[in-house]
Amino acid sequence: MRSAITERQSEALLARWQQICREVAPYHARLIAVSKYAPDAAVAALIAAGQRDFGESRPQQLRDRALRWPQCNWHMIGPLQRNKAKYIGRFAASWMSLESWSQAEAVARQTSGRILSVLIQVNVVAQAQQHGVDAEDLSPLFQSLQQLNSLRVTGLMAMVPRGNDAPKQFVHLRRLKEALVEASLADLCMGMSHDYQDALAAGATMVRIGSRLFGELDVRHPV
Ligand SMILES: *Cc1c(COP(=O)(O)O)cnc(C)c1O
Repeated sequence: MRSAITERQSEALLARWQQICREVAPYHARLIAVSKYAPDAAVAALIAAGQRDFGESRPQQLRDRALRWPQCNWHMIGPLQRNKAKYIGRFAASWMSLESWSQAEAVARQTSGRILSVLIQVNVVAQAQQHGVDAEDLSPLFQSLQQLNSLRVTGLMAMVPRGNDAPKQFVHLRRLKEALVEASLADLCMGMSHDYQDALAAGATMVRIGSRLFGELDVRHPV
């Protein structure tokens, strides 16, 4: 992950970043640059340009980058094994993929005295193979989480697999957030490379963009 990038790659990356920032700005939403498959050199180029929020799905990589670039916010966006809870408790700026009580308890024990912002991931498409809590379990889980003083729920997160009517699912997530009325949650984190425009239109306050931003530097998409 430490390979250098060329000047041309760096310029193209910054051009994509500026374009996405221009699209996101009118909505006052936050861009989470999903750097899970991006090399350090690409991350460094974005930080130099002013990007501060990054999404990671592997806890050790999140820790390594949080230690290397403490001026940035490193958000955990992937499924979590409980034995990795310590990396998230200590180093994540927020944990956006909380999906069970047992995970929450494990992370809550590892925050070393700080209060960690968390988003509950909701399985809005209600497919068994998708991550997140089912919509009907959201309110009870939210209520239980009030017992954990080191976690503060600030919003909801969802992913919509292609071909599942993203605009409709994004509105569904927004309604679920609004239904937790007593909470008045601030964050609605939805939208990825292929559907962030729909998510912004439906009220996203944060979008998570990886491949469209990093392009060929995202190692899933080699040149
Ligand atoms: C990888 C990932 C993304 C980014 O996906 P792209 O399609 O590359 O933009 C967003 N959210 C989550 C939870 C992810 O795991």
